[in-house]
Amino acid sequence: MNDSVYNLENQNSNLSSKIVVALEKISEAYRAMLWEKAKEYKLSPIQIQILVFLNTHKLKYCTVSYLAVEFNITKATISDSVKSLLSKGLIEKQADEKDTRSYTISLSDTGNNLITNLNNYSGELVNPLTEMSSENQENLWGSLSEIIRNLHHNNIISMQRMCFSCKYYTAVPEGHYCGLLEKELKSIDIRLDCPEHKQK
Ligand code: SF4
Repeated sequence: MNDSVYNLENQNSNLSSKIVVALEKISEAYRAMLWEKAKEYKLSPIQIQILVFLNTHKLKYCTVSYLAVEFNITKATISDSVKSLLSKGLIEKQADEKDTRSYTISLSDTGNNLITNLNNYSGELVNPLTEMSSENQENLWGSLSEIIRNLHHNNIISMQRMCFSCKYYTAVPEGHYCGLLEKELKSIDIRLDCPEHKQK
């Protein structure tokens, strides 16, 4: 039997298959919105993602190596995008004093001026969520965070700043516990991107 999620007989009688295809549709919406923004500002989608990342993360994370893991793409591709952003004057490079081959990158003044026009590219995805009840949102977040955890466990995606990969995180019988905040975390408190995260 063809058990592909795209086999319609399988898909229409199997909720897991339907959910996989639904997630793919949502990622198409995300990609389409990112492309729209990229066309408007004459940037590539990954260049926009890099600029948005630089705007919201600590300088120590803003290196070619870290970005390559973050976006699951090669260092060479990130390096090309960084070169292009430098030539457009949207980012600046800071050399590492201890290792002259290494550097961090940050937004330039021009990049900072542009960022508010770029960082809302996925805004349309928020609308259907705000129309859901809090309970449905909480259930959805609980399921999505478990899917992300599982995909990371199977080396399919990175999980660089999520609770599950943090040294302060412990699974407890009641659910989750953060040793830094010294409190139990409900499912909705699990962070996907925590500024205090420390890799295990
Ligand atoms: S420090 Fe942040 S990432 Fe780590 S367990 Fe606590 S809330 Fe989660």
